[in-house]
Amino acid sequence: MLGLLATAGLATLAAAGYNTMAPRSQLFGRTFIGAGRGSRLLALTFDDGPNDPWTPRLLEVLARHQVHATFFLVGRYVAKRPEIAQQVAAAGHVIGNHTWDHPNLIFSRPREVETQIKRCAQVLEQTVGSHSNLFRPPFGGRTPQALREVRRCGLVPVLWSVSGWDWEAKSAAEVEKKVMGSVEGGEVILLHDGGHRQLGADRSYTVTAVDHLIARCRDQGFQFVTVPKMMKAIDD
Ligand SMILES: [Zn+2]
Repeated sequence: MLGLLATAGLATLAAAGYNTMAPRSQLFGRTFIGAGRGSRLLALTFDDGPNDPWTPRLLEVLARHQVHATFFLVGRYVAKRPEIAQQVAAAGHVIGNHTWDHPNLIFSRPREVETQIKRCAQVLEQTVGSHSNLFRPPFGGRTPQALREVRRCGLVPVLWSVSGWDWEAKSAAEVEKKVMGSVEGGEVILLHDGGHRQLGADRSYTVTAVDHLIARCRDQGFQFVTVPKMMKAIDD
């Protein structure tokens, strides 16, 4: 009996853990993950920049394809590479908040969540001026309390419905395959132009994969939009 109780307790804990990290889970409060079935829209999102040289190279690829994406920037990297954040903004991409230094918010008190958001918002304001009210929690980690704090700060949490798993990929082809294998239309796609541990993370695979997958998705009749445009398309 005791054993059974212990197992049930563990299962509950495991389920709670799943819901704090699973990008599609809505159990801990609604988060935007895409336009839903039937949509022909796709939204590319890039986390953990700005990061040289990969963010500028990615900007070149996006410009060549005339695609606008959504970038969730890390505040402390913006402070170190302001000119790259400005290039992202000048190219017409949407900029969102990805905290000051990328903590997992499931371990953060509301006060720390607020500080993380505000420090990032402040450096974004100083560097690129007005930007979107979109927020992506680091690692997709969130709790009801953290989400409440995010909303209280006036931000809208955005997760994702497809991931390229580019932080652990062994090739560009692997990233491309992960995304192409999951795209049905209406997805928010998670990719990275930087790394959360330090500046300089190699994102060459991501840049190459994006170049290929934009062309392939367009051939299949999909259209790339920013997250705000995808949100608006649902409202219309
Ligand atoms: Zn991140």
